[in-house]
Amino acid sequence: MTDLTFAFTEAERLPAADRDAILENPGFGDHFTDHMVSITWTKDAGWHDARVMPYGPIAMDPASSVLHYGQEIFEGLKAYRRADGSIVTFRPEENARRLNESATRLALPQIPVELFVEATKQLVAVDAEWVPSGADQSLYIRPFMIADESFLGVRAAQRARFMVIASPAGPYFSGGVKPVSIWLSQDFARAGHGGTGAAKCGGNYAASLLPQNVAAENGCQQVLFTDADNPDVIDELGGMNLFLVRGDSTLVTPALNGNILPGITRKSLIQLAQDRGYAVEERAVTVTEWREGVADGSIVEAFACGTAAVITPIGQLKSPDFTIDFGDRAPGEFTLSLREELTGIQYGSREDRHGWLEEITALGAAV
Ligand SMILES: *Cc1c(COP(=O)(O)O)cnc(C)c1O
Repeated sequence: MTDLTFAFTEAERLPAADRDAILENPGFGDHFTDHMVSITWTKDAGWHDARVMPYGPIAMDPASSVLHYGQEIFEGLKAYRRADGSIVTFRPEENARRLNESATRLALPQIPVELFVEATKQLVAVDAEWVPSGADQSLYIRPFMIADESFLGVRAAQRARFMVIASPAGPYFSGGVKPVSIWLSQDFARAGHGGTGAAKCGGNYAASLLPQNVAAENGCQQVLFTDADNPDVIDELGGMNLFLVRGDSTLVTPALNGNILPGITRKSLIQLAQDRGYAVEERAVTVTEWREGVADGSIVEAFACGTAAVITPIGQLKSPDFTIDFGDRAPGEFTLSLREELTGIQYGSREDRHGWLEEITALGAAV
């Protein structure tokens, strides 16, 4: 099943001049490359009909199950262009494994890790000219899986579709590495015990949009979600994991307790910090601990992390009752140097000592 061959239909490519104009200032999630990948799954035939095809709308029956019951999961990873022109992706097998964990929770089919990786590689190879070369630029790759059976009954779909699209990306937050303000969501939770918090599914994001609006009304760029049963216990942001940095060379981050998305950036940063001799505590972390630690000087920095925004320093945590403010100490020194190390590995200026990168061979030259 993993030796599926991909049928290739060449797209009418965007002229190079237009593409280059987009790559100069790609934004985030606004533009898409010339091709996409589609692989179909049915309960009877398994994975089949793998294609690299022109990017464009997909036909869907209005009764398609994903439109009614939200059986959808996704991933996010990036392709980086290094100074020598080569292209790499970062730990794609981790994304494949996580997609399968999400698939288990959402009752979608498992996809072989090699098929997932091959699908992303095929797309990046054929659209290699879309991988930008500017500072902090990358090609954001979005694999996703939807239930696609025309049936209104409530049960796991017997037909699904895995797709990969890609979008050239500049920095996620405009204005460079500036500290963000985050809003402590007290009225809305993101996940409850036994829910879908550890799955990367669209439904979690749908539920995060209202609190995100509340955050924006309060002048914040992101939301911090806490445990549904204990509002003092920190979970994570809407799409990023959270770390506190202590002055005694210790990193503190919420443990993977089933409510939190197991971030690959999180996992990689834990490794890099440990390599530097930092202690990393994965455990329950509270807002009280954060307030007291900043007040007594033991907590010196805070940051959020995820593939899209890499590492984002946190300048402020705001709630209706109090504000935790790092003032002009943010962005912190450790946050910036960890960011520099991770992006250095990705863009090739630092040694890839853990073997995290996978090189992609571009296919032919596009017009
Ligand atoms: C994707 C995601 C993250 C970050 O995961 P990475 O693998 O580091 O990109 C964190 N939290 C949520 C809710 C996410 O969806």
